[in-house]
Amino acid sequence: MYRFEEICGNAGLVAHLQGALRRKKTSHAYLFLGGEGMGKRQLARTFAMCLECEAQQTEPCGQCSSCRAFLVGSHPDIVTVRPSKKTLGVDDIREQILEDVKLKQYRYPYKIYIVEQADTMTVQAQNALLKTLEEPPAYAVFLLLAQRLENFLPTVLSRTVVLKLRPLPEQTVADYLCRKKLVPQEKAGVLAAYAQGSIGRALSLMEEEGFAAMRQEVLDKLERLPRAPLSEVLLWAREWEVYKNDLRFLDIISLWYRDVLVAKRLGDGSKLIQQDKQRELFAAAGSSVAALAKGAAAVEEARRALAANGNFRLTLEVMLMKLKENETL
Ligand SMILES: [Zn+2]
Repeated sequence: MYRFEEICGNAGLVAHLQGALRRKKTSHAYLFLGGEGMGKRQLARTFAMCLECEAQQTEPCGQCSSCRAFLVGSHPDIVTVRPSKKTLGVDDIREQILEDVKLKQYRYPYKIYIVEQADTMTVQAQNALLKTLEEPPAYAVFLLLAQRLENFLPTVLSRTVVLKLRPLPEQTVADYLCRKKLVPQEKAGVLAAYAQGSIGRALSLMEEEGFAAMRQEVLDKLERLPRAPLSEVLLWAREWEVYKNDLRFLDIISLWYRDVLVAKRLGDGSKLIQQDKQRELFAAAGSSVAALAKGAAAVEEARRALAANGNFRLTLEVMLMKLKENETL
């Protein structure tokens, strides 16, 4: 969802951009500065959408051909520039910007370059870009996204409007999580406390936490597999229905089989296994290499079946039955 009114905090920056849009006095180059997950990308993308929107208002309309093209990721006149290696080198700037900017926009008012990780630009790359920043074609707009200001040449900075995003107050982050009904209130407070004023960071913490809980739950069950009766094992298919939209739980299972298999093949997998108490237990359960390989194959079969829209619970029951059978090999 790209709307200025949806952006939390940083009201001064939003007002600045909307004011420039209203007066039709936008600049050719902006630098959005802020830590990971603080919303610089969302701000830049919302601004880009407004510049190109047929409605020409201070919010993107979301309906016109430009807005729709942008939202499906196929806007002909908004280009995302990314480093091809660790840094944005002179070749990246040449190929992705300088060659391209010679061609006029295809059908919308501007040709916009959103430059990801602009602070990784080498000095050479910045110098290559400088001439275009100094004398940009009338239709060109550059939106640079960066975390650190000190990596830029003063000559580049002097050609851009620097917009510095500020960390949000903890309460604002917590309120956002609650308002979007992402987590219960008490949880939102905890996440916000760790998020350092960044909604993006709060979301990734939430994601990581969910993943860690899922991993633990799945590994606990795998560890029980040799001892649990088949009737119990089959019930797991129903419990795992909560992961229906997150098939990473299959990755957890297949990685487990792969790791234990590697440890077995090496003969002495003690070092590998020591790091993970559960794997130690599992390896000690005495599964043969053949059984482990069959287990891994059963997981892949399940993955294929689910990709082909197979019934979730049935597919998992078949997989679990095979995993359980293997234990007795
Ligand atoms: Zn529009």
